[in-house]
Amino acid sequence: MFIFDAHLDLSMNAIEWNRDLTQSVHDIRQREVGLSDRKDRGNGTVSLPEMRRGKVGLCVATQIGRYVRRDNLLPGWHSPEQAWAQTQGQLAWYRVMEETDEMTAITDVNGLNAHVDLWQGNPPLDAPIGYILSIEGADSIRSPDNLAQAWEQGLRAVGPAHYGPGTYAQGTHATGRLGAPGLALLKEMEQLGMILDATHLCDESFAEAMEVFGGRVWASHSNCRELVPDDRQFSDEQLKLLIERGAVVGGALDAWMLVPGWEKGKTTPTESGVKLEHVVDHIDHVCQLAGNARHSGIGTDLDGGYGLEQSPGDLDTIADLQRLPDLFRARGYTEEDIANIMHDNFIRFLRETWA
Ligand SMILES: [Zn+2]
Repeated sequence: MFIFDAHLDLSMNAIEWNRDLTQSVHDIRQREVGLSDRKDRGNGTVSLPEMRRGKVGLCVATQIGRYVRRDNLLPGWHSPEQAWAQTQGQLAWYRVMEETDEMTAITDVNGLNAHVDLWQGNPPLDAPIGYILSIEGADSIRSPDNLAQAWEQGLRAVGPAHYGPGTYAQGTHATGRLGAPGLALLKEMEQLGMILDATHLCDESFAEAMEVFGGRVWASHSNCRELVPDDRQFSDEQLKLLIERGAVVGGALDAWMLVPGWEKGKTTPTESGVKLEHVVDHIDHVCQLAGNARHSGIGTDLDGGYGLEQSPGDLDTIADLQRLPDLFRARGYTEEDIANIMHDNFIRFLRETWA
């Protein structure tokens, strides 16, 4: 089945993890034997050939670069200009993937329709992976005035915050409202037709953004607080608000977001028993809140700073997403529901947004 993955940090892996994503996952892992500079070395699960094998033919792919003020202890750049340059480097990687026909940028409804037709037909073995450009944490957008430039470059979705305090919004594990720069950014986003990615907004910033932003909203990679308590996850109240707004919520595969009590760096997939089945629990929870299967999707975040050591134990690579449809069938989901979750909901959302 054709799969749409609403969150992959592909260029971050290429440029910061030094992974040649045109190679097989096996080759990338081999190349990292003996490296210990990052906790997920040798544990990657994503590459372009592996996405093709798993029919993950379309994704939302990120730019990501954090700016940190002096008092912010999170890793990041010391000026917005450096963060911007970082994300421009990431964009340069996407561009060269386009030049070599590995990937293709999807920025409008005609491009989207042509790409979906290609992948839902009988795509060639080397079919390009389509990507919608998104930014995770908007700190690298130097000012709201720079957003039009980013739109010209193909940027179509913005997550104003990531972890911690940000220039435009407060993110996961931080608190507080948007502030004047955030309000100005949302206004500019609305004018351009940029999608607001609600993922990572802290509760106060989320509530304010929902109030002031009149454009389209999705949550690219978010799970349920009701099942695994943490402010990174959405409460039922927040999920209901997103559903009312017509949002699609992508279920994420980061293990600590799937099962309660996970301790990063300690808990293992084997001892926790975390499996793909657990993301089905989260997606099902959103479907039950909605009363239908039209607001759920897949937003794996695979290789988003973690690998096999923090992923479902029955997943080896991204191609294993092909096992999800059977897990939904076992719970009585119809074929139409399953197609909606695996790709159609996000595609419909984009068609409506870009119509
Ligand atoms: Zn994230």
